[in-house]
Amino acid sequence: MTTSSSSSRTFRLGVLNGDGIGPEIVPASVAVVDAAVTAAGGAPIAWHELPLGFSAIEEHGSHTPASTLKALEDLDGWLLGPHDSAAYPEPYRSQLNPSGTIRKHFGLFANIRPAKAFEGGNAVVPGTDLVIARENTEGFYADRNTYRGTGEMMPTPDVAIMHGIITRAGTEKIAHAAFQLARRRRRKVTIVHKANVLKLTTGLFRDVCREVGRQYPEVEVDDFHIDAMTVHLVRRADEFDVLVTENMFGDILSDLAGEIAGSLGIAPSVNSSDTHAMAQAAHGSAPDIAGQDKANPIAMILSSAMLLEWLGARHDDAHLTDAARRMEDGVARTVRGGMATRDLGGTAGCGQFTAAVVDAIRSGR
Ligand code: ATP
Repeated sequence: MTTSSSSSRTFRLGVLNGDGIGPEIVPASVAVVDAAVTAAGGAPIAWHELPLGFSAIEEHGSHTPASTLKALEDLDGWLLGPHDSAAYPEPYRSQLNPSGTIRKHFGLFANIRPAKAFEGGNAVVPGTDLVIARENTEGFYADRNTYRGTGEMMPTPDVAIMHGIITRAGTEKIAHAAFQLARRRRRKVTIVHKANVLKLTTGLFRDVCREVGRQYPEVEVDDFHIDAMTVHLVRRADEFDVLVTENMFGDILSDLAGEIAGSLGIAPSVNSSDTHAMAQAAHGSAPDIAGQDKANPIAMILSSAMLLEWLGARHDDAHLTDAARRMEDGVARTVRGGMATRDLGGTAGCGQFTAAVVDAIRSGR
């Protein structure tokens, strides 16, 4: 780990706490980022808190106010907390939810979701270390695959119809993201589809991924149907490196992979385009444990580390890359030292666990 002496640039990051456990895990992540950036010798992050979710509905009449989207445009990146949009009052509940709104507004086509088991961390398949590259803007999530309106409709109260969209352009972008990722890892990409049934749509996805793969001859490629893939993950998740798949398959598979690696509470993600990136835990707002100091902040902390890594690579800033490493290392050492939240079989609260990670980063051990 390198220690840099000074920072050239102040990064401006947004903070959107969101709902449920968001106001616990997002501030926890801010504290860990601050500790890591300081330890890496970087300039302090300039944080900008912005309204989103229930509180934004109350204060601004929108779960994702236009002022929030406008403010995000001028920032280097942001931390998005989970939202409990299923519990919003109408008409907000029927609208495209906050993360969908932001992903669509900024064209964040790549949702990168690692699932990595920790030593001492309760994994179903120890040794799991894979990344899901989920296409984020089209596929079978009909609420975000159209320019205007949604791909879902009800011609009568008893009939509901949806459509899914796979495009060559959208698939090429996520496929390149997946193969580039694999090149920096163990050089294997698994394409997940359902081309035996959804022949035209996921068949196109599979074929375009394979075409793109030919540009990366050093990366090994295989493919599985989505249903078979769930079985392979439960049995031998430790044998996979990068999985590339469409929107809905990726959402489902990443919850499964997160749990296989130990807990949904440790599953991070970053959503990115070529120009913007957003840290977002793979899990939801966990309303059942909200406000009780029971949430595991690891997923949000590691998502924030992924954002710093993305920014470090994009701006060639070694301080941020170093800070990201320190965050990952601080979390791993804390878990290895025996501290765990309830979902990982321990008793630590969110606050206590966060303080231990900050301590581990500050002390460097
Ligand atoms: P969404 O559809 O918004 O992603 P979800 O329906 O998948 O949400 P979650 O909110 O992710 O559901 O919660 C699923 C289960 O996982 C709940 O029992 C919740 O308490 C647990 N859980 C989720 N995140 C965490 C966390 N960070 N720490 C501890 N438990 C969590």
